[in-house]
Amino acid sequence: MNIFSFDEQYVASTYGRQKVHFVSGKGSLLYDENGKEYIDFGTGIAVNGLGVKFQPWLDAVKAQLDLLPHASNLYYTSPCALLAEKICSRTAMKKVFFANSGAEANECAIKVARKYSFDKYGSGREKIVALKNSFHGRTITTLAATGQDAFHKYFMPFTEGFVFGEPTFESVKALADEHTAAVMLETVQGEGGVNALGGEFLTKIAAFCKENDILLVIDEVQTGNGRTGKLYSFQNYGIIPDIFTTAKGLGNGLPIGAAVFGEKTASVLGKGDHGSTFGGNPVACAGACAVLDAIDDDLLAGVAERSKYIIDFLSALPSVKSVTGLGLMLGIETDDAAAKVAACLEKGLVVLTAKNKIRLLPALNIPYDILKKGLEVLKEVLA
Ligand SMILES: *Cc1c(COP(=O)(O)O)cnc(C)c1O
Repeated sequence: MNIFSFDEQYVASTYGRQKVHFVSGKGSLLYDENGKEYIDFGTGIAVNGLGVKFQPWLDAVKAQLDLLPHASNLYYTSPCALLAEKICSRTAMKKVFFANSGAEANECAIKVARKYSFDKYGSGREKIVALKNSFHGRTITTLAATGQDAFHKYFMPFTEGFVFGEPTFESVKALADEHTAAVMLETVQGEGGVNALGGEFLTKIAAFCKENDILLVIDEVQTGNGRTGKLYSFQNYGIIPDIFTTAKGLGNGLPIGAAVFGEKTASVLGKGDHGSTFGGNPVACAGACAVLDAIDDDLLAGVAERSKYIIDFLSALPSVKSVTGLGLMLGIETDDAAAKVAACLEKGLVVLTAKNKIRLLPALNIPYDILKKGLEVLKEVLA
């Protein structure tokens, strides 16, 4: 059986796939059907943040699979309660809603932002200011929240009420008026080109939102779970959102999403206001508990150290125009990124694109010998 032609015949053609069939992996190494080894600087788009089959995650997942894979949210199960406590205690947030993906977590955040405003001010205060070049997901509403025209085609009508600012304080302030419920942003725009918005902008926006009772919603789907050198990226800046969302790396290989609520928003959702059949699934949550336990100060220090190592290495290469991003979420500005990504793959290195950049999302704990080998491949391709 040829899996490439089978896939092309029977799986919806929504992805521009690279012609590689991965069958196994461990840590920062992946293997294709011919046994060829690849160094993984993509982590399945920031999902396998602690590496493929990270042992504590695998143990927790297997134990929970043996115990009880699913019960439904009509009953209590322990992994989701334990996970919610871990997220809250490490962020000073108050409550968590569990979903299964980043887009769903963002849907929930948008619902909560609008209901907060409705409960307090009545109708007419539902506008959400998002940013140009943002990415918030693929549902009709999260596409509407995504500040890229390419995503606003075909599926009309989109959810109303989103406007897009430049990532400057003046631009956001000019859009955020008395009809505005929330400002929604990623601290480092991932799909939009690995653009770090920076502390000055973020602290000003946070203060402005607080003054005007506009909710600050931070999308930590890609930046979260240690990726930028803190557990959640807003912790780099001493700001606290009213809602943040996360997914990807929280699951380390299983689907999970979470919308996390602060003081103001913790009690916005009541019984029947929102739900998800699989949300809070015990297996995904048991794995996520192991993920959070592993992301301690030592691991985060290692992220910052690896980040500096990569940036220093790449900045010295003549064909690299700039390196953007934060922590282990890095973008390389160079010519013809897509062709270079394909050339890396050919040489056994998995990297991604983001807009016209090469994007690196290696595991937070990638061993230095593997990291160095991967960077040498990148150097060859960039030469
Ligand atoms: C990937 C991503 C999403 C969407 O997550 P899914 O799990 O694919 O729904 C939303 N926001 C950001 C910032 C992302 O990187």
